[in-house]
Amino acid sequence: MTRRSALARVVVLPLAAALPAALAGCSKTLRCEDTSGLSPDDARLRTEIAAYVDQSQDPAKHCKDCVQFNPGGKDACGSCKVVKGPINPNGSCKLFVKKT
Ligand code: SF4
Repeated sequence: MTRRSALARVVVLPLAAALPAALAGCSKTLRCEDTSGLSPDDARLRTEIAAYVDQSQDPAKHCKDCVQFNPGGKDACGSCKVVKGPINPNGSCKLFVKKT
């Protein structure tokens, strides 16, 4: 065994083994889409009238910046005074009103 191959086994292999777990932690995306507890009217308001989306397509309109948003804590879904169900801080809807 050469010095180089020994070094590779000591340093590279443990790093390679830890890499998938580290990447899984980085790619974790908060999802706030469970609407199973909503009434039909609340679900309709959320999806059809407000057109809530879990990931805003407009960088200027995120739920976390909306006057109706109640934060749920670090890495947690929040809630909304208007739209029922779990609300993603990075979500958005047609009823967005920017905090002043
Ligand atoms: S009104 Fe819409 S944009 Fe504002 S917090 Fe509620 S769901 Fe998000």
